[in-house]
Amino acid sequence: MEKYDLIIIGGGAAGITAAVYGKRAGFSCLIIENKIFGGQMCDSAEIENFPPFLHISGSELAEKMAETVAEIPKVWETVTELTEGFIVKTDKSHYQSTSVVIANGVKRRKLNVRGEKEFTGRGVSYCAICDGNFFCGKTVCVVGGGNTAMEDAVYLAGICEKVYIIHRREKFRAQRYLVDKVKSLDNIEFIMSAEVSEILGSTAVEGVMVNGERLMVDGIFIAIGLEPQNQQFKNMVDLDERGYIIAGEDCKTSHKGIFCAGDTRTKGIRQIVTAMADGAVAISAAEKYIHGI
Ligand code: NAP
Repeated sequence: MEKYDLIIIGGGAAGITAAVYGKRAGFSCLIIENKIFGGQMCDSAEIENFPPFLHISGSELAEKMAETVAEIPKVWETVTELTEGFIVKTDKSHYQSTSVVIANGVKRRKLNVRGEKEFTGRGVSYCAICDGNFFCGKTVCVVGGGNTAMEDAVYLAGICEKVYIIHRREKFRAQRYLVDKVKSLDNIEFIMSAEVSEILGSTAVEGVMVNGERLMVDGIFIAIGLEPQNQQFKNMVDLDERGYIIAGEDCKTSHKGIFCAGDTRTKGIRQIVTAMADGAVAISAAEKYIHGI
């Protein structure tokens, strides 16, 4: 079994930063990522709150970040279990390490309404950047009132004829500057205090039921928040009631030698810069653990 000083689970902003700092600390590192490097940022058309750049697309930033770990060993596998030792089991192999940084991010929440599963990939999407082009010149709706919903709506307004934002209450969770940007666009219409109860269609999405009425749309983009994916770690570290790994600003979990960084941990502000800060802090803690300081 391959053995490393440090295994980093996840190749988003937190994991990449942890790997950069881990390498600088002289550790042998392995990054395990199951999809693409960059994580959630890849779903953002434009990032305006990453200070080195005034504007940058999420995919471009992800590419630049991935370049910084080009020389660090990595595998594209899904972690299924973490046990004492530490042994990290994946869908393809087993690896051993002295310390582990969990930086596996979060996944998009589902709406859980009739038609959602059936039409996923046929009009139901969780990523405007990935799927928006299929709806050029068409009418779509975005569900949600957070930053992601606003960013998705702005992006879609640039390629679709009409975009509805359907939000379940009167106030937005999104930052003011994003809401203002949305309000400045003529082809976006708000449907407030409204809930989607069903997604309609025959072979693809043809509409949605909103507050008991049919709204004709060709696509629905669901942007209703994020969920952790930590069930495979629950035997080793404590999770909160929502499934986030309990860790403070020092990134220490309830288990010595296991650290966590980024959106997967209990924290107030989930941003690229806060995830990167976690990556650095987690490695500083891991260094002390590995050197027995
Ligand atoms: P979020 O901030 O948690 O917002 C989720 C939205 O979906 C809320 O408006 C919520 O409504 C609504 N919602 C939740 N469950 C729902 C349901 N079952 N049915 C209908 N609506 C539902 O999620 P997010 O927008 O994906 O953002 C996640 C994190 O990433 C946040 O910390 C955000 O700041 C960050 N982010 C930052 C940026 C940026 O800085 N540029 C961009 C994207 C994301 P209520 O408001 O009523 O709860």
